[in-house]
Amino acid sequence: MMTNVFIISAPSGSGKSTLVGRIRDTIPNLEFSISYTTRKPRGAEQDGREYSFVSRDEFEAMIRRDEFLEHADVFGNYYGTARRFLQKAEENGSDLLLDIDVQGAAQIKGKLPDAVSVFIMPPNRGELEQRLRKRSQDAESVIQRRLEAAAREIENYRKYDYILVNDRLEDSVDALKAILLSERQKRDGQPDAELLAKAERCRLERIRERLQPILQSFQKTAAGGGK
Ligand code: ADP
Ligand code: 5GP
Repeated sequence: MMTNVFIISAPSGSGKSTLVGRIRDTIPNLEFSISYTTRKPRGAEQDGREYSFVSRDEFEAMIRRDEFLEHADVFGNYYGTARRFLQKAEENGSDLLLDIDVQGAAQIKGKLPDAVSVFIMPPNRGELEQRLRKRSQDAESVIQRRLEAAAREIENYRKYDYILVNDRLEDSVDALKAILLSERQKRDGQPDAELLAKAERCRLERIRERLQPILQSFQKTAAGGGK
């Protein structure tokens, strides 16, 4: 069996970790790449579970040894996907899921054109701000920086194969499962029609209209907020 590589990107606070956590236990033969990062652990995060937390020196040594499939600077910290996670998934005959930013997604698509990418969108800017606050593990300045970054990240939505607006969590979990399972079935032969239909609802041409007010909610503040 060939390893399918799935990329998930989202502006911080959109609910990506929540969604990924929900599918983690329900989809068999799906491995999760644990990224390396130089940022400090947040809340209950544990080294080797959410991330492998390393120093800048250690990260730069890994870059020199060419251990990364991709790496990027996000919010002033390094983040990277180690090559060995892909090798391990291939050896195990599993699929691999990467939770990485838009820069990393572009690097992976360059190297692995068959990788399937999903962009998770918040329902609008106000809701994203509320979710970032609800999580409230970041300082106010960090929240503001992340909202500004979100406006820029969202502009990359067209580069993704699927776009999932994370409004109602249960619907989003369902849609994400449908995308992963139908893509897997497409590789193996005939996909289930119902799953395929559910996944296809997350194609750009299908949600263009729904996206307009979301994009606008981010543009207004970007223009009005100054620098
Ligand atoms: P991310 O990983 O994208 O930074 P999180 O998964 O940490 O985001 O979610 C940010 C906050 O929003 C959390 O408090 C989470 O419980 C909440 N959240 C996630 N998805 C939804 C949703 N569909 N509806 C309402 N709240 C959500
Ligand atoms: P956070 O600090 O909120 O966990 O993550 C910040 C951003 O870094 C998110 O967009 C997340 O997807 C991204 N990210 C996490 N791991 C990697 C990685 O290995 N490579 C890249 N390029 N981005 C990553």
